[in-house]
Amino acid sequence: MTTETQTTAEAQPQIKEFQAETKQVLRLVIHSLYSHKEIFLRELVSNASDACEKLRFEAIAKPDLLGADSLSVTLSPDSAAGTLSIKDNGIGMSEAEIIDNLGTIARSGTKKFLETLSGDSAKDAQLIGQFGVGFYSAFIVADKVTVLTKRADAPAVRWDSDGEGRYEIRGSEKADRGTEVILHLRDEDKEFLEPARLRQLVRKYSDHLSIPIVLKTGEKDETLNQAKAFWTRPKSDLKDEDYQGFYKHLTHDSEDARVWAHNKVEGNIEYTSLLYLPKRAPFDLFEREQKGGIQLYVKRVFIMDKAAELLPPYLRFMRGLVDSSDLPLNVSRELLQNNRTVEKIKSALVKRSLDLLEDLATNKPEEYAEFWKTFGAVLKEGIIDDPGQRTRIAKLLRFNSSADSADAPAVTLEAYVARMKADQKSIYYLTADSLTAARNSPHLEGFRAKGMEVLLLTDRIDEWVAAHLHEFDGKPLANVASAAADVASAIETPDKAAAETAFKDTLDRLGKGLTGKIASAQVSARLTDSPAVLVAGEFGMSLRMGRILKQAGQNNPFATLPILEVNPKHPLVERLKDTADEASFSDLAHVLYDQAMLAEGGELDDPAIFVRRVNRLIVEGLSAQPKIILS
Ligand code: ADP
Ligand code: MG
Repeated sequence: MTTETQTTAEAQPQIKEFQAETKQVLRLVIHSLYSHKEIFLRELVSNASDACEKLRFEAIAKPDLLGADSLSVTLSPDSAAGTLSIKDNGIGMSEAEIIDNLGTIARSGTKKFLETLSGDSAKDAQLIGQFGVGFYSAFIVADKVTVLTKRADAPAVRWDSDGEGRYEIRGSEKADRGTEVILHLRDEDKEFLEPARLRQLVRKYSDHLSIPIVLKTGEKDETLNQAKAFWTRPKSDLKDEDYQGFYKHLTHDSEDARVWAHNKVEGNIEYTSLLYLPKRAPFDLFEREQKGGIQLYVKRVFIMDKAAELLPPYLRFMRGLVDSSDLPLNVSRELLQNNRTVEKIKSALVKRSLDLLEDLATNKPEEYAEFWKTFGAVLKEGIIDDPGQRTRIAKLLRFNSSADSADAPAVTLEAYVARMKADQKSIYYLTADSLTAARNSPHLEGFRAKGMEVLLLTDRIDEWVAAHLHEFDGKPLANVASAAADVASAIETPDKAAAETAFKDTLDRLGKGLTGKIASAQVSARLTDSPAVLVAGEFGMSLRMGRILKQAGQNNPFATLPILEVNPKHPLVERLKDTADEASFSDLAHVLYDQAMLAEGGELDDPAIFVRRVNRLIVEGLSAQPKIILS
C-alpha cells in the first residue's frame, strides 16, 4: 500500500455515524450478497470508470484538468499486506462529497429500495445494483475499507470504515487527483488477490468499459479489458452474451434484456444507437416524470443520463444509449430541447423501438405477451401522446374481449376487425374497473344475445386511449355503455317500439321520480337479464371517466346526467308499471337506479337508504310467498 502514510494531517480523524438507512442497507448488502461476493469488483471498477468519465466530461470546459493524463483504473493486489487497491485518476471527491456519497444515501430511491426488499436474499441481491448502493459491496469481502481521494480543486481526504456503523474521516497527503479504494480482505477472501481471478472477473463484468483497467503485479502492467467503447465495436464481433453483459453494466439490471437493436447511422447525421427492451419494470415506471433510460454520449464522451429528449415518455421503459458525432461536447439539457439533430435522432429511435416491438409481437408472441403485461399500460400512452405513430401503436395494443375467457389480454384490433359481423359498423368496447366487473356488466347482455364481440378495457388510462384512438382500420370505436346512435342501432330489437308505447307513462314517472339523478328514462334493447342500466348520453363523457375525474378531485364541467334504461321484460320493471302508490313507486325506482349504479362500479349517494329499501322489498316479497318457503 503505497499511498497510505500516517502524517500530521491524518492524525485527527472525525468519527461519524452512518445514516440509519445506510446502516440498514449495509447490513443487507453484506448478508444477502454473501453468495455473490465477486460482484464487489464490478461495483468498484464501475465507480472508478464512472469517475474517469466524469472527469473527461468536466475537462471539456476545463482542458487543463486532463493535462497529459490518460485516464485509467488500476488494480493492485498486495499479498503481503492482504489488500487489494482499486485506483482511478478520475474526478475524485471533496470532503463534503465523500460524506454525502459514502456516508448517507441521499437518493429518494433508497426508501423505495428498503420497502421493496422481500427478505429473499437472492431476489434482494438483484435489487442492490438497481438502486445504486454499489460501493457498500466492498464490505462483503473486506473487514476494513480505506478510501483516499482528491478532487483537482480540493484538499485530499481519507475515509476509513469497518462497515459496522461508523466511519472516520481526516485529511490526507494524497497528491494526485482521483480515488483509491483499499480493501483489507478477510482471510477467506484472499482469492481476490490472485491475478488470474482478477483477470477473469474483469473480463466477465467489465470488458465493455472504455477506460483501460490495468493490473499491476510488480511485473509488466497488463490491460485486462478491450478498453474500447462497447457500442463502437462492429456488430459481427459481438455475441448475445456480450450484449447482455453490457446491458447489465448499463442498467444494473441483473436480469437479461429481452431484445435489443444496435445501429450505426451514417450520412446526413451520424450516430450510433443501442436500444434494449428490458424484461422487468423499474420501480418508478409509472411516474410519468421519470425521464427514461437513454444515455447520451458525444464522440464517445458520456454527457448525460436519462436524456428525456431522446425518447418520448410512452417509451420510457426502453434502455440504452446514443452516441452522436453531430452534437457539441458542451451540449446542455436546454440545448437538447430545440435541436434539430436531436429531433431527428428521437424520431429514428421511436421507429426503431416500435420495430423491435413489432418484431417481437410477430415472431415471439409469448414473449410479447410478457412484455405487454409489464409495459403495456405505458405503451398505451403513445395513443394519446403521439398522433404520428397512432396507427402503429394501435396494432401493438392487446385487449381482453367478451369473446374469450382468458385473463391475459391477447386480442388485437386487427383480429377483432377480421371477426366483425357483416353488418357491424363499429368496434365495440366497454370500460370497467376490473375484468370480472366487465364480464358481468349488464351492458354486454344485448351484445351477447346478438353474438357481437366487445373489447373489455380495464386500465384507468383506457378511457383516454379509447377517446383518442377514435377509429381503427376505418371502423369507429363505440362505447357500449353510451347512447351512441350506432350502439343503439346495433342492438335494436323489433319489439322495442311497442314497449315504448306500453311503458310511456312509467318512463315519465321514473324521469320525474329521479329528477337530478338521470336525464331521462328509456326502454332498453340492450338488456336481457338485468332490470336497468345507466348509459352515458350520446355526446356525454363516459360514466367511468366522470368517476375517475371525480376521484382525482378534478371538477368536471362536462359531467352530464346519465340515461336510465329499463328492461321491459324484467318482472321488477313490470311491477313498477303496475304500482300506482307513489311511495312504493319511488322506492322501487330508487332501487333500480342504485342497482344500476352499483353494477357500473359507481358509488351510492346514500347506501344506508338503499339497504333499507331493498330489505323492505325482500320482506314484502317473502310475506307474499306461501308460508312453506319460510319454514
Ligand atoms: P452509484 O455508483 O450507483 O451512484 P455507489 O454506491 O456505487 O452508487 O457510489 C456512490 C457514489 O459515490 C457515486 O455516485 C459517486 O458519487 C461516489 N463514488 C464512488 N466511487 C467513486 C470513485 N472512485 N470516484 C469518485 N466518486 C466515487
Ligand atoms: Mg456504483
